[in-house]
This record gives sequence, structure tokens and C-alpha cells, in this order.
Amino acid sequence: MSNDKIIIAIDGYSSSGKSSMARALAAAIGYRYVDSGAMYRAVTLWGMNHGMVADGAVDTESLIEALPDITIDFMPIPGEGQHTMLNGEDVELEIRSLKVSDNVSQVAVIPAVRHHLVELQQRFGREKGIVMDGRDIGTTVFPEAEMKIFVDASAETRAKRRFLELQEKGIEASYDDVLANVKQRDHIDTTRAESPLVKAADAVSLDNSDMTIAEQNAWLIDMYRRTLDAHGMKA
Ligand code: C5P
Repeated sequence: MSNDKIIIAIDGYSSSGKSSMARALAAAIGYRYVDSGAMYRAVTLWGMNHGMVADGAVDTESLIEALPDITIDFMPIPGEGQHTMLNGEDVELEIRSLKVSDNVSQVAVIPAVRHHLVELQQRFGREKGIVMDGRDIGTTVFPEAEMKIFVDASAETRAKRRFLELQEKGIEASYDDVLANVKQRDHIDTTRAESPLVKAADAVSLDNSDMTIAEQNAWLIDMYRRTLDAHGMKA
């Protein structure tokens, strides 16, 4: 074995807590963390800023044409994890707004957008040693990932978490709007034609409705160790 690093794919519904757990796992085992949802959000924000995305409607042709002009990267910020950079500008806060959340799933259904971002995501994973979270990581981006987790929790539990998260960040939103957005995104994400949100056959399910963050993190580290063991690898 030339390289004892693996690829870890964490997929699941909106606001299932997968980003927090993916980030914590990556930090604990010294892997790179990539938030693929942030990339869809960044493309959406770019489209909104350029009049191509508004109120759930997308000028698909113009957005596809503009894809080569959109660059997305992640910049580590001491004590804050990493921030999403859109054409060199820090958009970490903006991409989390409800306005972006309301439009992102409509952008994410566009096959050309998906192909573009999947290619970028695969480039991030070339050296392995990566934890990526999203909707199609275990099925489409890294079907060969050694460890695949599918996270689930009720829509209400997820909306509550998202609502508190937004409050903490000082982003205004009502609980009802957040719940409606979570349900709407679930619907669009699971019914789209191109790589819909679906559990990979070889993914392990994790329902974290009644788990504390500490329990989740311990569960993931345990799973990581067992995955390495199963592959005859060492941490
Ligand atoms: O993970 P997050 O909720 O930030 O993702 C925002 C949206 O981006 C999702 O609702 C989904 O429509 C889309 N997405 C996707 N495929 C991914 C990650 C996110 O379609 N791998």
C-alpha cells in the first residue's frame, strides 16, 4: 500500500449536521475537508449577483456559459476553519443566507453545473486524505471512496438546527421559513434527474436525531478506524 490515506464521503439531507461532523472528523484525523454544498452555493451567489438567478428562476444558458469565469476555492482562516472564496472574494457568510438557500437547489439541478463542480471536487480528492460532504459524493464524485456515510434526521430536527445556526450567525429568518426551505430542498434534491440524493448501496446510515455532537464524532472516528483496519491500513 503506497498511501495509507482514504477518501471519506459524507452525504445526507440539508442541515443534517453533516458539514459539522465532516469538519470535526477531518480536523481530528488531519485530513482536508471540502464542503461541496458551499461550491453549489457559490455558483448560485455568482448567478444572483449577475442577474442570472432570482426567485427560484435560473437563466440556465447564460449561467452555463459563465461557468469558466467562476472560480471557487477554500481558504483556511485561523480559528474559523475555512472560508469559501468566489473569484478571490470571501463569500462564506453570504452563501449561507436564506436567499441563496432558496435558489441553490434550482442551480444544482443543472447537469452542466454539476459536471463542472464534480470535476473540481475530484481534483481536490486526487491525493486522498480528504473528507467531503454533500449529496452525491459517495455515488458520483467518489464512488470508490473507502468510507461512505449517509446522514439522516427528521426535517423538523434539521430545521431547528439550521434555525439556531442562522441565529448564531446573526442571519435573520423565521423557523417556519427555514422548515419550508429544508423540505423544499429535500424534494428537489431527491427528485432531480442528475445524480439525485440517494444513499449509496455501500454507505453506512447514521440517524443523528438523538445523538450529541460528541457522540457523533466518536461514532465517526470509530468508523474511520474500522475502515482502515478493513483495508489493512494504519492511521
Ligand atoms: O450542503 P448544503 O445544504 O450547503 O448544500 C446546498 C445545496 O447544494 C443542496 O440543497 C443541494 O441542492 C446542493 N448540493 C448538491 N450536491 C452536493 C452538495 C450540495 O446538489 N454534493
